[in-house]
Amino acid sequence: AMERSVRAARLESLGQLAGGVAHDFNNLLAIILNYADFLADAVTGEAAGDLSRIRDAADRARSLTGQLLLFAKREPTEVEVVDLNQVVTGSGELLTRTIGADIRLVCRPCTFPVPVHANRGRLDQILLNLVINARDAMPDGGVVVVETDVTEIRDAADVPLPPGRYARLTVSDTGTGMTAEVRDRLFEPFFTTKPSDRGTGLGLSTVYGIVGDAGGHIGVDSTLGIGTTFRILLPHAADREPSGERGPERVCPAGD
Ligand code: ADP
Repeated sequence: AMERSVRAARLESLGQLAGGVAHDFNNLLAIILNYADFLADAVTGEAAGDLSRIRDAADRARSLTGQLLLFAKREPTEVEVVDLNQVVTGSGELLTRTIGADIRLVCRPCTFPVPVHANRGRLDQILLNLVINARDAMPDGGVVVVETDVTEIRDAADVPLPPGRYARLTVSDTGTGMTAEVRDRLFEPFFTTKPSDRGTGLGLSTVYGIVGDAGGHIGVDSTLGIGTTFRILLPHAADREPSGERGPERVCPAGD
């Protein structure tokens, strides 16, 4: 338990550091992009190409700092009652565009509402992150299945959560799966096995933080060569009062 709280504290301060840096960088990038815009009117020929390269790089840097800010939770968010089914059906089009033609997306929302206390934008972010990872794990195509349902937890032996009713979001893929080594480090900030222009290693650590703050839990099952399943449990909104922006202390599974 000691080891875990040290880890949690370390994650927390890493988040604060990353957030502070990202915040300052964001402002600087805004200045760079702003002046690049001014210059765009004055510049022609080869210089215009150079300028557009500067802008592209600054744009990419901005999306990176955006991810860092999200990870560090610098942006305040509003918590409301959200039906997980709507998150799934509402994102369908974006997800289909994201995964490309070789991957089939199957959405199976539950037949009844699956309400949780959370921020809608963050839930969208969770789903998008999981589906992007599924896509990246299936370079030769495959199937992603997104499901929602409601489940009952009776004792904490299987999942470290208080007993009660939970909303469940499941994202499965038929991708490469992962080694035990990767599975152990999956939720660590900045851990990635992807080339640096593709992966930041912030996707799952951000998901982990959002789920933890909402009083939930994320679990993963993966088999090399077969595929991976992520299961997110969030307290059912009809059962409990909304949790605050900061939930109970998080337990980092990387230490287990
Ligand atoms: P990123 O996607 O930027 O690498 P993440 O935190 O989202 O960062 O993921 C960390 C690592 O976990 C990935 O680089 C990959 O090795 C592994 N991973 C995540 N999702 C999957 C998946 N569905 N199948 C196989 N490996 C995965």
